Amino acid sequence: MQLYNKLSSKEREQLIEQAGEERFTLSFYKYHQLKDPKAFRDFLFLNWNKLDVLGRINVAHEGINAQLSVPAKKFEDFKTFLDSIDFLKDVRLNIAIEHYDKSFLKLKIKVRPKIVHDGLNDATFDVTNKGVHVDAIKFNELIEDPNTVLVDMRNHYESEIGHFKNAVTPDVDTFRQSLDIIEADLKDHKEDKNLVMYCTGGIRCEKASAYYKHKGFKKVYQLEGGIIEYARQVKDKNLENKFFGKNFVFDDRRSEKISDDVIAKCHQCGKACDTHVNCANDGCHLLFIQCEDCAKKMDGCCSIQCQDIVHLPYEEQKRLRSGRPDGNRKFKKGRSPVLKFK
Ligand SMILES: [Zn+2]
Ligand SMILES: [Zn+2]
Repeated sequence: MQLYNKLSSKEREQLIEQAGEERFTLSFYKYHQLKDPKAFRDFLFLNWNKLDVLGRINVAHEGINAQLSVPAKKFEDFKTFLDSIDFLKDVRLNIAIEHYDKSFLKLKIKVRPKIVHDGLNDATFDVTNKGVHVDAIKFNELIEDPNTVLVDMRNHYESEIGHFKNAVTPDVDTFRQSLDIIEADLKDHKEDKNLVMYCTGGIRCEKASAYYKHKGFKKVYQLEGGIIEYARQVKDKNLENKFFGKNFVFDDRRSEKISDDVIAKCHQCGKACDTHVNCANDGCHLLFIQCEDCAKKMDGCCSIQCQDIVHLPYEEQKRLRSGRPDGNRKFKKGRSPVLKFK
């Protein structure tokens, strides 16, 4: 019985290329009490591996959060499988508007303490007492209401490349920080203002809206399915798009273009740019925005120091990394004194 990945990313990439088949990138989440997350995890792995599903999935006692790549021709089988699980029957799937066949190259299902790292102690409030879900039409109306405060529940490197018109975008590194900042900012308006929030796919707002209701906010709304679903509805129903720029996503595409506006700048030269990269030095891996010119000039690195390191023989680079506490920390989140324009 195979319960874990056997192929490397490279091997998988070659297989996908050879097969030449179309794949959908999609995500979903569900809060649901799971008694045995490990058994559920293995059950998913066995079934999804058979369907050639790839992706990154967190399973916890509180439910499931999944980002996936599914072969188009097995999509129906995948859906039938989901529907066979009681609590996932008819779960809303957020399907990416752009197709990219290599958004994920492995099937990684992990059992975690929580499905999103939120830094909250759940015992303090009722997660099921959440805000009112609104679709794109209602959301567009609400955010034009002068009595509305629109809040972006994502982190700084996400809202930096794209956000809704008139949104408050807290300059934070974690979800927990933004909860506190927003509460403090709005403490005198708990009853009179509409507190409207959004995030990438909706999952963070599930927690945030319940949290704010617990803190005494009366009119709490959340964008159902987040920016991903909003973009789909805007396209399908030909609505006015009030989102500027790109939606940062957590697969190898890194972002989805929602409008043609480029609202960010290259962190090295300041020129208009909204392309995130990870520093080419594996020992650094800093996530930052870099234009093509700077990428060429800096060999894809965030600093001269990193550039010096990538020119060393690989074994030497590995030696430098070992023993460093933050060596090879994947996906370091976009702040460093070496970036002049951040
Ligand atoms: Zn640049
Ligand atoms: Zn670097």
